[in-house]
Amino acid sequence: MSESLPKAADVVVVGGGVVGAAVARQTAKDGLKTVLLEAKAFGGAVSGASLACLGTHMHNIEELPILLEACALWQSLSEELGDSFEYNRSGQLRFILKPEDVAIAERWIAGERAAGLAPELLSPKEAQEVEPLLTGPIHAATWAPDSATVNPFLAVRALLADGKRAGVMAFAETPVERLLLDGDRITGVRTSRGDISAGHIVLAAGPWSARVARSIGLTVPIVARQAQCLASVRLPPSIRRVIGACESAGGVESGYTQIQQAASGQILFNTVMAPQQTPAGAEDRINEVPRRFVRDSIAMLTTLFPSLANILMLRSWVRFEGVTPDDRFMAGRLQDGLLIAAGDNGTGFTRALFLAQLISRAARAATDARDGFYNPLRFAGGKP
Ligand SMILES: Cc1cc2nc3c(=O)[nH]c(=O)nc-3n(C[C@H](O)[C@H](O)[C@H](O)COP(=O)(O)OP(=O)(O)OC[C@H]3O[C@@H](n4cnc5c(N)ncnc54)[C@H](O)[C@@H]3O)c2cc1C
Repeated sequence: MSESLPKAADVVVVGGGVVGAAVARQTAKDGLKTVLLEAKAFGGAVSGASLACLGTHMHNIEELPILLEACALWQSLSEELGDSFEYNRSGQLRFILKPEDVAIAERWIAGERAAGLAPELLSPKEAQEVEPLLTGPIHAATWAPDSATVNPFLAVRALLADGKRAGVMAFAETPVERLLLDGDRITGVRTSRGDISAGHIVLAAGPWSARVARSIGLTVPIVARQAQCLASVRLPPSIRRVIGACESAGGVESGYTQIQQAASGQILFNTVMAPQQTPAGAEDRINEVPRRFVRDSIAMLTTLFPSLANILMLRSWVRFEGVTPDDRFMAGRLQDGLLIAAGDNGTGFTRALFLAQLISRAARAATDARDGFYNPLRFAGGKP
């Protein structure tokens, strides 16, 4: 890339996934001179390989007001930018395989209904009316009509393009090598192509955020959690909804499984491992798909959807969610001059536009009572 880096900015965002692209777009729209730096390709790490279901169902009851707002922001963006990233109000079914898990689902439904949502518990027959090919031996299902999906790669591109229209200066293949300090204040970043000084640096480097923070001896408690995906060849429309496993029921390697069909026709299957099963440094090895995952995924898919027993699988891949000890984002001020928006619990797409607003407010030193929910200083008595 020939364009030279600016020497100074109001905000430098480190990481060009969905979170970084959303943050940069927002800070630029809010009048701050913004530079977005991506080590490799925009959306090329975790975000572009995500399943990008935007939902409120069975995440965190405490967080529901935020999730509702976050989902509404995606809907407004799709209206504002036209159909540029395949926003689809698909709704979401969670299947329940064991009778004892119905009580778990009922508790979630009660909490979500109290927050004004309309999830339902369905019998297998009712679930089949919502998703006709779901003829496997499920015990029950939950239905959340408000969930949507987007094409993750197109969504990052749309945010980036809109951000550039608002003035974002975006640079791919520009890794941040270290943060720059003056006393306790973070004053800029060092990249392979020169230094940039800035009023605020925003760490939005997903699971790599901890590595960037370590460049100044700062410990950020984010570790990688492995997620693996399997994609079929293109098929005629078969699965209309996002199909997930109920909190503790189903799942292949762990408690969570997600199946959906992309607008391209590919059926996508995803499971997530517990963080302790993810080897240290694994986030840089994205082709080591566990064989057992492929075998178990095909078994799960064909159990739920017997009529899809003979579909061909095209490819598989591994990506990493960067998770915190309490499975909640870190979003806000970490140190003087340093903000962070990282540490998702596998739902960073859903929250990206909301986090962008929160970070932009923090960069403009405006206050927000809800910053506390994602307060990055909540670990280790204020010093992460
Ligand atoms: C398989 C899978 C399925 C998922 N499904 C869903 C879902 O259905 N719904 C949902 O809401 N979420 C889902 N998620 C989670 C969601 O995709 C992530 O939370 C989100 O993409 C994280 O975005 P990010 O911008 O924080 O991270 P990333 O996309 O990883 O972006 C971080 C960027 O930082 C860059 N970077 C790293 N180091 C540096 C450096 N030193 N300098 C500059 N740049 C650097 C990286 O190259 C990368 O591009 C899923 C995740 C996976 C893996």
